[in-house]
Amino acid sequence: MTAADAVRTSERDEARRYDVLVVGGGPSGLAAAEAAALGGARVALLERQKEIGYPIHTSGGSWVSDMRVLGIPSDLYHPIRSVTFLSPRKSATFAYDDPVCCVLDVRGVYQHLAGRTVKAGAELHPNSPVEGPILEDGRVVGVVAKDHRNRPGEWRAPVVIDASGFSCTLSTRANLHAGYRRYGYGAEYDLYAPNYDPDSLYLIMGSQVAPSGYAWAFPRGKGRVRLGVGVIRPDVDADAREYLDTFSERLPSLAPAFAGASAVEYHTGLFPSEGVVPHFVGEGLLATGDAAGHGSTLVGEGIRFAIYSGQMAGAVAAEATRAGDASARFLERYERQWRARFGREMDISYMVNQRIAAWSDTRWDESMDLLNRLTPAQAAELLRGDYSVGLFLGVLRRNPGLLRSGARKFFDVAFQRLGRPTPVTEAEIATSGA
Ligand SMILES: Cc1cc2nc3c(=O)[nH]c(=O)nc-3n(C[C@H](O)[C@H](O)[C@H](O)COP(=O)(O)OP(=O)(O)OC[C@H]3O[C@@H](n4cnc5c(N)ncnc54)[C@H](O)[C@@H]3O)c2cc1C
Repeated sequence: MTAADAVRTSERDEARRYDVLVVGGGPSGLAAAEAAALGGARVALLERQKEIGYPIHTSGGSWVSDMRVLGIPSDLYHPIRSVTFLSPRKSATFAYDDPVCCVLDVRGVYQHLAGRTVKAGAELHPNSPVEGPILEDGRVVGVVAKDHRNRPGEWRAPVVIDASGFSCTLSTRANLHAGYRRYGYGAEYDLYAPNYDPDSLYLIMGSQVAPSGYAWAFPRGKGRVRLGVGVIRPDVDADAREYLDTFSERLPSLAPAFAGASAVEYHTGLFPSEGVVPHFVGEGLLATGDAAGHGSTLVGEGIRFAIYSGQMAGAVAAEATRAGDASARFLERYERQWRARFGREMDISYMVNQRIAAWSDTRWDESMDLLNRLTPAQAAELLRGDYSVGLFLGVLRRNPGLLRSGARKFFDVAFQRLGRPTPVTEAEIATSGA
């Protein structure tokens, strides 16, 4: 070994030191790294895959208003003009001349976020799988990660952000939370489908197509459509891949839309479906995105929530750096901010998900009658999980029978969570004007 080699080896063996380390280069990690760097911190992000945005584990359904707020260029999402819910025997279609939902170019969006992160001053390290946290006196003070030549090394920082998605690599090993027992399991083909209407998105429910979950057809422009099936484990032990492969036989009415189609990509993934974890802040540790259960369990939507929660985590990590205080007590402000902004909606989404995951085919058919009485704006708010007293009053005004059904209890609890403690009456609904 030459002297120069010896110096290089000792440099490599020394721990690398930063203010903030981010584990995971998905939407939450990229947003966290960008926000922390913008806050003045020295940031490194470690991603186990060789490329940001590959492989894809998501369908990319999202919302135009959020993409605008988050500064995602409009050529990276495809706007949707028609949303159809299909149950075994019924349907409900909503038209949006001014599109509200969209389907993302997932890789394009993640690479765009990566560019912003680098521009903000953070370092990205693809091909750097993190093996686990470094713990000292119960505090997370860094991670052990392999480099691109498979050599393990130490990376140290007073604040570490777990953005490792469903695997929650650091949170479980640092005993922040126990990981997930209930989860959505999805499989999808990204097809070239020349006969598919690019304006029409479908959400399809029923035991024939996706027991306890749903199937989806998400057009994303230029002839491409993501066709997928998701089921909830362990509610059912169905195999999403099997249902996907037999989709056309299970739903012949949609088969013409896929005439002449063929797969270009195949994706699978897992999504936490048991609500927000009890705590997502520890000593020197913040968890964000799927690693903290921050997605909406209503329909398994997590990308925009991952970006928002990553931004919050990154900003607080930078504040901690400036204050020289990475204690859980200091970092708690992130958890408080997140719960104030998203906590109620996520709790209600989880309540809804637990109910609808157990619905029979008949119940799904009945729900189409309910949906057909809503306005397109109300349907979009429900799907987004933008719950408010006004929205629920509007739903009840159009479906007063719900108050006399088993749904009464759900509405009482939901109203309570929204800060309206007294049970709603039919007379009040009739005069609400919602
Ligand atoms: C089948 C399916 C369909 C979905 N469809 C939608 C949808 O239509 N719309 C929507 O909004 N959401 C959807 N979601 C949810 C959405 O994909 C997630 O909520 C979102 O990706 C969470 O982002 P994240 O950054 O927290 O985690 P992830 O996107 O999972 O990113 C985590 C990153 O961490 C990396 N990583 C993991 N372990 C390590 C390690 N040890 N070392 C280094 N890096 C590591 C991973 O490689 C990955 O890049 C879907 C999920 C699934 C499974």
